Amino acid sequence: MAQLDTRAKLEILADAAKYDASCASSGTVKRSSRDGKGIGSTDAGMGICHAYAPDGRCISLLKILLTNSCIFDCHYCINRKSSNVRRARFTAEEVVRLTLSFYRRNYIEGLFLSSGIIGSSNYTMEQIVEVARSLREDHDFRGYIHLKTIPDADPELIHQAGMFADRISINVELPTASGLKRLAPEKTQESIEGAMAGMSDAIIDTADAKKHYKSAPRFAPAGQSTQMIVGADAATDRDIVSRAANLYGSFNLKRVYYSAFSPIPDASAVLPLQRPPLMREHRLYQSDWLMRFYEYQPGEVAAAADDNGMMRLDIDPKLAWALKFRGCFPVDVNKAPREMLLRVPGLGTRAVDKILAARRGRTLSLADIGRLTSSISKVRPFLVASDWRPIALSDQADLPLPKPAAKQMELFA
Ligand code: SF4
Repeated sequence: MAQLDTRAKLEILADAAKYDASCASSGTVKRSSRDGKGIGSTDAGMGICHAYAPDGRCISLLKILLTNSCIFDCHYCINRKSSNVRRARFTAEEVVRLTLSFYRRNYIEGLFLSSGIIGSSNYTMEQIVEVARSLREDHDFRGYIHLKTIPDADPELIHQAGMFADRISINVELPTASGLKRLAPEKTQESIEGAMAGMSDAIIDTADAKKHYKSAPRFAPAGQSTQMIVGADAATDRDIVSRAANLYGSFNLKRVYYSAFSPIPDASAVLPLQRPPLMREHRLYQSDWLMRFYEYQPGEVAAAADDNGMMRLDIDPKLAWALKFRGCFPVDVNKAPREMLLRVPGLGTRAVDKILAARRGRTLSLADIGRLTSSISKVRPFLVASDWRPIALSDQADLPLPKPAAKQMELFA
C-alpha cells in the first residue's frame, strides 16, 4: 500500500464509509443554493455526517473506516477483497488524533467508526476498541462514539467496545439467510445474531444494574442498531418488514436502517444491474415507523403490501393499509381509542395526543380537528366528528391519492 498522508487517507476512508446508512439522518438534501455549505446545510464536509443522539439532538459525527481493505468478499461491497479500489488504512492513533482535532475545532460532536476486516476479525475488533479506549481513557473524550462491531470477533472484545461506546451496531446485511449466504458467503446469520444477542443481554444487564448502583458501568447506553441492504437480493418488502420486526423483538434494537443497494464498479454477476427506487427505501422507513410509533403489529404492516409482497410506491403504507382495510373507517374522533386514531392517514402521533386531550373537555367538530391537524383535507374522509360524517363519493376529491388511483375512492360507499 503506497504511503498516503492523513488527508488522502481521510478522503478514501470517509468516502468508503458513506455506504453505511446506520448513522445517517435519512432523507436530507443539500439546501445551500451554491455550495452546500450554508447555514443549516446537511452537507457538513468530508467525513462528517449527521445523526441523532439519544436525547433527540442532531449531532455531527466524523464517519470513517479504519481501513477499506478487507479479507472478505461480500458481493455488494465496494471494499470487498476482489474490488479494484484505492486502499488506505488509519492506525488507531491516527483516528484518535483526527477525532480530537475535529472535536476541538467544533467540527464534530462524536465519531462513527467502522472497518473492513484486516488480518482477522479479532485483530480488527482490537483496533476499533483501541480507538475508543484511547479516546475515553487517555484523552477523557466525552463525545458520542458509535462503533460498528465485527460479528465473528471474540465476545469479550465486543463487550469492551460496548463499555466505551454510546452505540454499537452490527449489520445483518441481507434480510434473509439465503440472501446472506449467496451475497456474503463468509458471514452467517448465526454469528451475526449471536453477537446481537450478547450485546442485547449486556445492554439490559447494565441498564438494570445502573438502576440499583449509580456507579455501575454503562454498556452502549444509546443501544444497538443494524442495517439491511434493500434490493440486492430477491427479498420482498414483506420479508424485510418481518425480519425487522423479528430483530426489534429479539434483540431490543433501537433502530433498523434500510439502505437501497447501490451498484458498484466491476460488480459481480450475481448482483442486480440497477439500484431499487429510492422510494422503496423510504416506504420501508415509513413501515418501520408504523411498527415503532403507530402501534401496528408487524403482520398488519406486512398486510399493506401488494400481492407480490411489495409496498406501494405511489402511496405511503399507512394510507395503503387504510384503503385495504377500509371497513375500519371512518373513525369517530370523539370516541375512538388512541390506536384507531393513529391509523387515520394524515394524523400523526402529536395530533392524536392533542385530539385526546381536547376531547376530554368538549365534543369535537370538524373545525376543531382542523385546528389540531396540519391538513384537514387529508384526514376528513377517514373521520367522524360531531358535525361531520363522510359520505360515499362526495369526499373522493379530498383523498390524498395520486390521480390514477382515484377510482378506489368508493371507500365509504
Ligand atoms: S466484511 Fe464488510 S467491508 Fe468486508 S467485504 Fe464484507 S461488507 Fe465489505
